[in-house]
Formats: sequence, C-alpha cells, structure tokens
Amino acid sequence: MNTTETLPDMNIYRENARRWLAEHMDQRPSSDASAESGLATEEFLKKKIATARALQRKLFDGGYSGITWAKEYGGQGLPLEYDVAFLEAAEHYVMPDFDTFNSTTFDVCVPVMLEHSSPEFLRSFIPKVLAGELLVCQFFSEPSAGSDLAGVRTRATRDGDQWVINGQKIWSTLAQFADWGMCLTRTNWDVPKHRGLTWFAVPCDSAGLTIRPIRQITGSPHFCEDFFDDVAVPDGYRIGEVNNGWTVTQSMLVRERGAARSADTMSPTGPGDLVPDLVAAARKAGQLADPVVRQKLARAHTNDYVSRALGFRIAQMTAQGDLNTGVAAYGKLFKGVYTPIRARIGVEIAGAGAMTWDPATPGADATALAYLNGRLISIAGGTNEMQRNGIGERVLGLPREPSFDTSKPFNEVLLDSAHWNGKD
Ligand SMILES: Cc1cc2nc3c(=O)[nH]c(=O)nc-3n(C[C@H](O)[C@H](O)[C@H](O)COP(=O)(O)OP(=O)(O)OC[C@H]3O[C@@H](n4cnc5c(N)ncnc54)[C@H](O)[C@@H]3O)c2cc1C
Repeated sequence: MNTTETLPDMNIYRENARRWLAEHMDQRPSSDASAESGLATEEFLKKKIATARALQRKLFDGGYSGITWAKEYGGQGLPLEYDVAFLEAAEHYVMPDFDTFNSTTFDVCVPVMLEHSSPEFLRSFIPKVLAGELLVCQFFSEPSAGSDLAGVRTRATRDGDQWVINGQKIWSTLAQFADWGMCLTRTNWDVPKHRGLTWFAVPCDSAGLTIRPIRQITGSPHFCEDFFDDVAVPDGYRIGEVNNGWTVTQSMLVRERGAARSADTMSPTGPGDLVPDLVAAARKAGQLADPVVRQKLARAHTNDYVSRALGFRIAQMTAQGDLNTGVAAYGKLFKGVYTPIRARIGVEIAGAGAMTWDPATPGADATALAYLNGRLISIAGGTNEMQRNGIGERVLGLPREPSFDTSKPFNEVLLDSAHWNGKD
C-alpha cells in the first residue's frame, strides 16, 4: 500500500466485511452435516475445485481476494491485520477450498512468482489468480531428482525469444486440474548443478505437454506424471534470472516447508478443542472412559497444540522476513514425524471400526484414509531426513554433508554416474 494513502478504519472494515459476508456467502453447516467421504475421486476433486473457483470469484468481486497483495496486481494492498480480520469474520462461512491448490497456488507458487517474475507477467497473471481463474501446480520433482532437486534433467533450450522444454516431471499434485505449472529446468549443463537452473511458468494446455494422473493407495488420483515434448514458452514466462534458478528454488522451499497462511499468524490463544475427531472415534468405539485411550487422546491433543504453536512462531518469522530453509524445516519435520503417529492413534482407538465402514455413512472412512495418507507429509516437499539435514547444517552449524558433485560441471557428473553404472 502506498504510504501516503490512509488505511481503512479497522472497526469499519470489520463491520463491512461482516455485512458483505452475510449478504454474499453461505453459512458453514455444522460439522456433522458437512461430513463427507475423504476419498477424493477425480469427479469429487473436479466438483470441489469448480465450486471453489466460483466462491473465489465472489471474493474477488467483493474486494476480499488478495487482501495483502499489491494493488498493482489486483490485490487490496492492505497490511496483514486486515487479512486476519477478514478471516476471523469469515470463520463461520463457506470459503473457497481448492484442496492442495490452497497451498501450492496461494502459499507457494504465486508468492514466489510475485518475488521473481517480471512486472509485465504479473500484471496480467495475478488478477486472474485472485479471481479463481488460474490455479498453479508445481513441476519440480523428476524420476531421478527429488531430494536432490538441483539434479533435475528437464532441459530448456533457448530459441529466439522463446524456450523449448523437454523432459519428465512426476508427483505434481493435482496437475490434471491446474491451469499453469511452475517448472524447474536445466539451462546450462557445463556448470555445477546448482548454477545452471531456470524456472518457467508453463500453461498446462501447452502443445507437447502430457499430464497423466497416478492413482494412489487410497484410490485417489492426487498426483500426476508429466511429459514435456518440445513445449515452447515465451521468455516473458521465465521466473527469475536465467541460470539463477537455485535462488528461486530456495524461496520456494522456504514457503513449501515453513510458510503459513495469514490465519496461522493469529496467536494460538489456547490449546483449542480436545481432538474432536479422535474423541468422536473413541465415543463411537465405546472407549471414551478407557484410561489408556484417554492418555492417547491427551497425547494427540498436546501435539496438536504444539504443532499450532510452532506454526504460529514460524509464520511470525516469515512475516518478519527472518525465515530460512533451516528454520522452516522445524515445522515441516514436526508434522512429518507427528502426522503418522496421530493417524496410528486414530486407528488404535477406532479398532476394527477404522478398517471397515458403511460407505453410506458420511466421513466413516476418515480414520482409514488418514492412516493411508499418514506418510504423505514426511515426503512431500522434502523428506524428514532432508529436514534433519537442513536443521543440522543451517541451524546447528554442523559440518555439511560430504558431496561429490557440487563443484563439477553437471555434464561430468552425469558421465561419472554412467561410468559407475558400467555404461561407458
Ligand atoms: C504428497 C506428495 C505431494 C507431492 N507434490 C509434489 C508436487 O506437487 N510437485 C513436485 O514436483 N513434487 C511433488 N512431490 C514430490 C516430493 O517433493 C518428493 O517425493 C520428495 O522431494 C522426495 O523425493 P523422492 O521421492 O525422489 O525421494 P528420494 O530423493 O529418492 O529419497 C529416497 C529416500 O532417500 C532419503 N535421502 C535422499 N537423499 C538423502 C540425503 N542427502 N540424506 C539423507 N537421506 C536422504 C530420503 O529421505 C528418502 O527416504 C510430492 C510428494 C508427495 C509425497
């Protein structure tokens, strides 16, 4: 916001927001009435995202989308307190829920683009994101580059004022529903691996880009594999400087691991509700009075609160610009370690009821799905081991992991690995 402009009075802002919400948005039904299967089928996801787009459009038209984002790009240009005030007012209303795009588009990709893309690109792109017209997925992991992201082999070659991309990406969450993807490519093979990388924004309907959903253990097609065959993108879609993609990667990983939405910057005023889902499971299984079960509930409750408090600290550091990938790793590691434990507690409490259920009962599959999805956060966006490495090296100042390939040109690293594989 321009410093010479006066900010709206907070009380009036709140009052207007409450009035607007009452006029334009639906009240959230009680949790029982809104329970639905956690199994996200293709059809379910399609409908969920279409509904979210329509609600996002309403927010945009009402001036409540991108509250803290720059006015130049269609946002409201207001300080964080206004975003928090709006979220508080909206607590009991149905807000847009874009599934994983809530984080990939709004918390990670677009903030990174705002930092590194050209103003011309942002001026046409961001208002459409804020209006719910464009959702952005992440094309960074490859079959042979995940934890070692600097080892990507998808190639972008300059051709006049455009780039031609060839290669394969994998594990791109919800790419089949995305409008654009943020793609990490190698643009120079003759320098060490961290120095020859460049990011691009790529329209998902580009000629030569094939996106194939992958079905998971739950049956849900949440991921895709993506094939880039001579996909041409204009230089104007580049995110950051040519061959300086590692800087962009760092800002992406910080957001991916530690960033939080403005709601997380609200102080955790207390320990909150006593794990409602687990209490309900214990009641249903007739175990609520069992002292061992009660201890499990207390453990889950304590950890839920610690997780929120940690998220709050990290979000505050993000807001103050104090975050690095090492500090961000604490929040990610906590969730990566604790989520599978919580999921297991759920199964232990619910017993056989967690494993078999009546499909007609809304939400009855939640415990089993939480268990099957329990490892997700310990891998996505950097495994627990990589978070521990980050904390060890960047926070505790321990010696760096030995490396054989960070100072050699990437071409030579590939030649070496061919030699180890007996291919020379
Ligand atoms: C739910 C989910 C969503 C995802 N969404 C996306 C997405 O939208 N876009 C995208 O591009 N990718 C996505 N991914 C991919 C994800 O980022 C990678 O799976 C992750 O970075 C790990 O890489 P990898 O699977 O190649 O495992 P690898 O890197 O092959 O690791 C295998 C094992 O080796 C360990 N290991 C590797 N290197 C080290 C080391 N240096 N020190 C100690 N241990 C090590 C790892 O911890 C792991 O246990 C997603 C993954 C999941 C699970």
